Amino acid sequence: MSELRAPIRVLPAAVAARIAAGEIVERPASVVKELVENALDAGARYVRVDVRGGGLGLIRVGDDGVGIRAAELWLACQRHATSKLAGDDLGGVQTLGFRGEALPSIAAVAELTLVSAPDEGGVGWKVTLRDGRVVADEPAPRTRGTTVSVRHLFQNVPARLAASARAQTEVAQIGQTVRRLALAAPHVRLALFSDRRLVLQTTGSGDLATTLVEVYGPALAGDLLPLGPVEAAGTRAWGVVGGPEVTRPGRNQVNLIVNGRWVQPRGLLAPLEAAYRPVLPRGRHPVLVLALETPPDRVDINVHPAKLEVRLLEERVIGAALGEVVRDALGRRPVSLRLPPAAGLDLLHRPDGLAEERGEWDDQGPIVTPYLPPLRLVGQVQARLLLLEGPAGLYLVDQHRAHERILFERLAAAHGVDAGPAPEPVALPEPLVLELRPAQVARFGRRLEDLADLGFQLEAFGGRTFLLRAAPSLPGVLPGAPDRSPEALIGVGEPDGLAATLVTLADEGAGEGEDWRERLLVQLACRTAVRRGRPLDRPAMRALVEGLGRTTTPAVCPHGSPLLMHVGDALLEKQFDWR
Ligand code: ADP
Ligand code: MG
Repeated sequence: MSELRAPIRVLPAAVAARIAAGEIVERPASVVKELVENALDAGARYVRVDVRGGGLGLIRVGDDGVGIRAAELWLACQRHATSKLAGDDLGGVQTLGFRGEALPSIAAVAELTLVSAPDEGGVGWKVTLRDGRVVADEPAPRTRGTTVSVRHLFQNVPARLAASARAQTEVAQIGQTVRRLALAAPHVRLALFSDRRLVLQTTGSGDLATTLVEVYGPALAGDLLPLGPVEAAGTRAWGVVGGPEVTRPGRNQVNLIVNGRWVQPRGLLAPLEAAYRPVLPRGRHPVLVLALETPPDRVDINVHPAKLEVRLLEERVIGAALGEVVRDALGRRPVSLRLPPAAGLDLLHRPDGLAEERGEWDDQGPIVTPYLPPLRLVGQVQARLLLLEGPAGLYLVDQHRAHERILFERLAAAHGVDAGPAPEPVALPEPLVLELRPAQVARFGRRLEDLADLGFQLEAFGGRTFLLRAAPSLPGVLPGAPDRSPEALIGVGEPDGLAATLVTLADEGAGEGEDWRERLLVQLACRTAVRRGRPLDRPAMRALVEGLGRTTTPAVCPHGSPLLMHVGDALLEKQFDWR
């Protein structure tokens, strides 16, 4: 008997930490959630999430929040270390975090780097932990805010790595996580990039309807109905719900936000579902977001470590009120204008054939794209807006920003850091001369390599002069060479100002290399996109809308400004009193 019984020992600290970490960091998406929540707790107005390889290669979350002082960086990574609980009162917690477990848990299963600065001095501090040990502890350039990078996640936890091995699945989970966080923080500008591609972006408008459209797509915009505001048992609630036309087969897009936290309170979800079930098609669920505000001492957020389950006092009363609001809204469904079947609709089934066949079929046919509803082009207004008719109202598209968005995504796809070998640059008919100010020369010189990576072949010509000999081969980005090729739209670009853009950006050069590259792509797209004030012919307008409907975020330009406006049927009916 005795030889079967192993002696009892206390686990080595690193093993114990890894086991404990499992509660908090199950998969890449949970790391993203913890890091974004920290950024939100830090009062960030802008949060940028970058993931590579589904988060298993890299997860990086940057924010412009309050930052962490150099002396506290290491402490932030220790177990049960938090700045969010002053006393021992768990009841009054107003932050998303308070357990002080996220950073140490992540450090137990990955390499963790924090770069942070508490002020605008430009100098911050950097700490890297590998296997729980500090391997870097040094000053680093940083504007106010914090960037946390997580590398090699789960490489020391083979079982969890295997369970998370499919990058695509993880990217989907991360997307869902960030969407929920975005809905919970509509005032914050959030962007998610996966392998350098923009997956989603919100404008931080503060408006729930706008944010819902930004995270789930403009196809929704036609049918949104307001919910509340309503008050019950000391809790205020308001939100929006998609109309009966835009239901989903699962509950994934039913979002409840309690005091800024995305949660799944069973006690509220059940009455909500009971309320919409009779007014929606069988087995379907709405796209919905409801924000609840309740005194913090009336919620218990401490029920589940992942903090999704919460309990509210007087849940039954609140649940009943929410149910009523949702049933009311869905019951007053708007009359949706449906497109009459038109010539060319059969192209719906041949999405890839669209561009090529453009010239051959009726110009009046709807423009069908993956990310926008089918749209009929009405025309150009004020030489700066495209007017379109959709299934549920009118759409206005800012021609400049739309073109910018298209160019940016094409540029990022072709020239992003992880995009693979960039297409061959194209030599300019004659070199473009860049004349710099003396102070700019050294900084610009340091960027030549980066610029060459992007396809800008530059050469020092002595003194303050540089020559641009070749530029990226993307149509429309080539300065001075208007391209009348297949992509009609690109042919209307405005390439002048490119030289100025390159210089300005090299000038800004202080920031992190990869950020700089993205800024350059944004600037390039902006400078080469068709301007407002430029009349467009119908093929160009159609090309613009077709291109836009194939981008992943057709509602905001790369700067984060809105480019698509929907004037919904509900609004028209209200304005004209058509009921
Ligand atoms: P918690 O969020 O529960 O306090 P964490 O382990 O997530 O625990 O973070 C520990 C501490 O590190 C936080 O309390 C906060 O003081 C600091 N911190 C973490 N991330 C950030 C950030 N992005 N900006 C500012 N401070 C941060
Ligand atoms: Mg936290």
